[in-house]
Amino acid sequence: MNFEKSKKAFEEANKYIPGGVNSPVRAFKAVNITPPFIKEGKGSKIYDIDGNEYIDYVGSWGPLILGHCRPEVMNALKSSVEKSTSFGAPTEIETEMAKLICDAVPSVEMVRMVNSGTEATMSALRLARAYTGREIIVKFIGNYHGHSDCLLVKAGSGALTHGTPDSPGVPADIVKNTISAKYNDVEDLKNIFAAHGDNIAAVIIEPVAGNMGVVPSTKEFMTFLRDITNTYGSLLIIDEVMTGFRLSYHGAQSLYNVDPDITCFAKIIGGGLPVGAYGGKRKIMENISPLGSVYQAGTLSGNPLAMTAGVTTLRLLKENAKIYEAIEEKSKRLEEGFKDNASKLGIDIIINRVGSMLCLYFTKNDVHDFDSALTSDTAVFAKYFEEMLKEGVYLSPSQFESIFVSYAHTDEDIEKTIRANYNALKKLL
Ligand code: PMP
Repeated sequence: MNFEKSKKAFEEANKYIPGGVNSPVRAFKAVNITPPFIKEGKGSKIYDIDGNEYIDYVGSWGPLILGHCRPEVMNALKSSVEKSTSFGAPTEIETEMAKLICDAVPSVEMVRMVNSGTEATMSALRLARAYTGREIIVKFIGNYHGHSDCLLVKAGSGALTHGTPDSPGVPADIVKNTISAKYNDVEDLKNIFAAHGDNIAAVIIEPVAGNMGVVPSTKEFMTFLRDITNTYGSLLIIDEVMTGFRLSYHGAQSLYNVDPDITCFAKIIGGGLPVGAYGGKRKIMENISPLGSVYQAGTLSGNPLAMTAGVTTLRLLKENAKIYEAIEEKSKRLEEGFKDNASKLGIDIIINRVGSMLCLYFTKNDVHDFDSALTSDTAVFAKYFEEMLKEGVYLSPSQFESIFVSYAHTDEDIEKTIRANYNALKKLL
């Protein structure tokens, strides 16, 4: 594979953009190779400026559950863009989006659109603090909820990949009200509530953590979390930025049968355009300005292009239940194929998968929390990643991210990926 044009493009980008990228993990620093510069995508494939083709398992980090350039989405966008790009005034499609979300996720009775997952979680915390009149927020170690100050504490994703789970520049005074708890650890949560329960505004959780690889919370843990937050009058915020409309049309919360107070969304609901949303119980959401006094706003919130791509994507997901079945089946085949390869070659791996989110760890240990995720050998992952790229398979360039299977992945893609996995694993021996 030739990467000459990408190398030049990266050099040029580095002159003007910190690290050459607009979001850290894109720099491929953890795997120490030049990132291919992408010029287009179609279905399950992406193409770089040197003409290399890849099977894409990043899918823009989750939004593209239907693959690139899904015709219905592209056609809807084309007709929307002809009517202007933005108004900053109410449009009917915003209500359509809100209705789709509220109908799909019963715990959400009202919803406010924002522009990213970061904004969604940040705004949800403000609302929870205002509603409860309390200050403390509990988050889980290795969960990532975007880069707002309060939440950039012991965070996963790029923060973890690049060794800065606590970022400089976040005032100690601000994070003194953020408590980090151990994921899937009932005892730890019990102790935290025993000590601070009366001042805990909310607990925020990734129901299936996708920012330290893929680590599902257990049903027992989620049930306990709901119970203890109810007991102490704290809100439960479920961050479904990654899982929402991916693990089920009704959210990961439907798989856990849990009824949160607030849910955060992003990614899939924007169909690949910048978007976020937070929603929940009417009595809580009514506190947001202009109905209530909790201020939160956005010049481009509810942007017509983002709403168009999102609404079209959600409608397709709603009307075709077989999409989720198909993605589950393909993801399962990948999981089984990878496991089979590793056992043939005698390599220790652990695969965690929930629906179309999957992570392969280079460890012998069961991965159920942050510490066990860290037992994976990231140097081996880097080599594996490079070999997969050479095989034409584009994975997330970090051990601590999920790969995302889309409806556009074909049987042939899955077979090719399993063969590539065998070849890549073999090179590790
Ligand atoms: N929450 C979760 C669970 C996420 O995975 C992410 C991003 N991957 C965010 C929040 C932040 O979203 P954004 O990057 O759109 O700000």
